[in-house]
Amino acid sequence: MTVETAKKRIIESGLKFTHQRMVVYNALQVSADHPTAESVYEKVKEANPSISLGTIYKTLENFVRAGILKKFTDDVGVMRFDPMLETHSHLYFTDTQEIKDYKDPGLVLLLKKYFEENQIDNFEVEELSLVIKGKTK
Ligand SMILES: [Zn+2]
Repeated sequence: MTVETAKKRIIESGLKFTHQRMVVYNALQVSADHPTAESVYEKVKEANPSISLGTIYKTLENFVRAGILKKFTDDVGVMRFDPMLETHSHLYFTDTQEIKDYKDPGLVLLLKKYFEENQIDNFEVEELSLVIKGKTK
């Protein structure tokens, strides 16, 4: 992602564009591993020594509220951030602890159809996102 695109996204989300926000947003875009706030901090602190972990937390929460970032808790309770906004599933690698994006529109269609035919009591399905656990083959 270019600086211009990052800037545009931040401004479009209604947030004021600041250098710190751009640095944090860029760090997220280049990490495909659903980073934690700490790992974002590790990535940016060398080039931006004035940035604190508290600022990173606050900036990430602002991005989530502005709708340009999603957050989720992984299976061991660690908060992670996800720059991919479209509905998608996650592959949890039990051997490397990585979390990778997984998209299969056919699978989502199949599941949607399944839940249409097998309604859950007092519950309306809005989004289907799977956690698939496994290991490197
Ligand atoms: Zn993801």
